[in-house]
Amino acid sequence: MSTAGNIHVTLPDGKVLDLKNGVTGAEIAASIGPGLAKAALILEVDGKQWDLFRPIEHDAKIRIITKKDPEALELIRHDAAHVLAMAVQELYPGTQVTIGPAIDDGFYYDFARDTPFTPDDLPKIEDKMREIIKRDLPTRREVWQRDKAIAHFKGMGETYKAELIESIPAGEDVSIYWHGDWHDLCRGPHFETTGKIGDAFKLTKIAGAYWRGDAKNAQLQRIYGTAWRDKKELDAHLERLAEQEKRDHRRIGRDLQLFTFTPEVGAGLPLWMPNGMVIRQELEFLATQEERRDGYQRVATPEITKENLYIRSKHLEYYKEDMYSAIDIEGENYYLKPMNCPHHHMIYLATRHSYRELPVRLAEYGHCYRYEASGGLSGLMRVRGFVQNDAHIYCREDQAKDEFLKVMRLHARYYDLMGIKDYYMRFSLPDLTKQHNFVNEPEKWKKAGEIIRTAMQESGYPYVEAEGEAAFYGPKVDFMIKSVIGTEYAISTNQLDFVATNTFGLTYIGEDGQEHPVYVIHRAPLGSHERFTAFLIEHYAGNFPTWLAPVQARVIPISEKAFDYAHKVKDQIFQEPVVNGTTGLRVDIDLSNERMQKKIRDAQLEKIPYMLVVGEREAAEGKVAVRLRSGKDLGAMPLENVIARIKKEAESRVDVAE
Ligand SMILES: [Zn+2]
Ligand SMILES: [Zn+2]
Repeated sequence: MSTAGNIHVTLPDGKVLDLKNGVTGAEIAASIGPGLAKAALILEVDGKQWDLFRPIEHDAKIRIITKKDPEALELIRHDAAHVLAMAVQELYPGTQVTIGPAIDDGFYYDFARDTPFTPDDLPKIEDKMREIIKRDLPTRREVWQRDKAIAHFKGMGETYKAELIESIPAGEDVSIYWHGDWHDLCRGPHFETTGKIGDAFKLTKIAGAYWRGDAKNAQLQRIYGTAWRDKKELDAHLERLAEQEKRDHRRIGRDLQLFTFTPEVGAGLPLWMPNGMVIRQELEFLATQEERRDGYQRVATPEITKENLYIRSKHLEYYKEDMYSAIDIEGENYYLKPMNCPHHHMIYLATRHSYRELPVRLAEYGHCYRYEASGGLSGLMRVRGFVQNDAHIYCREDQAKDEFLKVMRLHARYYDLMGIKDYYMRFSLPDLTKQHNFVNEPEKWKKAGEIIRTAMQESGYPYVEAEGEAAFYGPKVDFMIKSVIGTEYAISTNQLDFVATNTFGLTYIGEDGQEHPVYVIHRAPLGSHERFTAFLIEHYAGNFPTWLAPVQARVIPISEKAFDYAHKVKDQIFQEPVVNGTTGLRVDIDLSNERMQKKIRDAQLEKIPYMLVVGEREAAEGKVAVRLRSGKDLGAMPLENVIARIKKEAESRVDVAE
């Protein structure tokens, strides 16, 4: 029991301290040691975060949080957001502050100000922040009466803050944090002084935002920053950002002339340029070959379809908001196709199937259109029209596990080929307590789930299970891959569907001469071509392996005297047939008046794997001087040897190790 006026404070190691009522975390840290007093950021009191300067007035379990704890980053970022707002208001009086949370990797603050911020403002604001941090201003917390607080902020012209206070639930404290003589509405906690933020932060960009995230509301200006525990962490993060920028698929797509978007065609509708089409053709050809090996047959289906099919498939019931409005053709409603499944089902239904011919595997690079809000569109990652590496496998129940396993192995073959090492499967089951989201067939769910789980275990590939994220008609497996810069992509979705058999009457004739239901596997290992290409651009940083490179070789004549020979070299490469590819070799020629060094530099910027430099000597000897895009000089080689090497890379889809 506490002695008069004292409380018991229990530390994480179980040690109990008998301390005066109203003791602060700062005092406790100091009593343990000067090192801890310095390192302490905030306190945790009975599981709740608590300012170091705030008195503790009852028996409690406490934990002192320092920079080493996982919470530290979020705390640093929250304090940095306050100092950002304070710096902006010191520099630009009359700017209103709204909200400013900590986020992944950093923080932001949204401001209401008539004049737009420019990138030139960022260093000024950053300097002001450093100055405020150096001032080492003490923090103070006050709890205000709600009406007083609203009147106070309104009086200051801070209408957004007043609105925020109005929305705080009754019974909750309206707490105000002061840093020196600047104050903000905040739940806290905050550091004792601004100095504890340190100097490992940087403002990164300006963006538009809407008040409460709603486009109907006033537009605000958002300033983003990043903050870390120390300079080393900050530098590593900035390096990651720079690498991200360097690999940005939108920039590389523009530089290499792979694809373009125009307002005339419409947002989210990519136009594939000749260079980009090469990648599409090669990937589709790869898929065709690999799928042929696995027993798929190719089909083609139209892009618009009558309403009835989507009523039957339940797309209009469950999926309408992702579809475009109907097109009226001769008084009937047609829709742009959001998925290929119902069409493949129609093809399956066009003939009768016996148990002997199953599985039937129908594949198509199918064009689909889905509604995406314009704000969500982003390069090739999120588009409105795309091509899907789609297929549907119709099989008997006793075949479903092996078929699913084969689909997983197909993924792994692609990933091996492309050097994608960091991937896992996310297995989604339904949350059957939320029945409106899932077909109410508990037995079938259980069976389908077991089939997939067994297949995944046999595959040996890593997987995690997630409840509640299944499709409404069956469990699914997403392949998650991590790019070299650490971004995680859900690239392909695979489902085991036991509902389509009922809605479409998909059956086969069994040994007993009776009709039996089929299982349908939906799969798309290369995802949508658009998204997969965006991933590959970042993965390779535009340095595509020879089999995917839009231009595989460029002939560079040293002078006009070598033009004839250069043409001969180009033609010979161009005419070389490639067995394992959609075209012959892809070669061009640089006939510009630029100097040779400039031509080589240009080819490198275009990330062309082979540069073949030719002059009079090479012409006389039937050779070419070979440079690689890496800068490596292979010297003069007989033309036949070079062609053989490029051809081998194109056909094997594996580059020769340099
Ligand atoms: Zn705050
Ligand atoms: Zn499907």
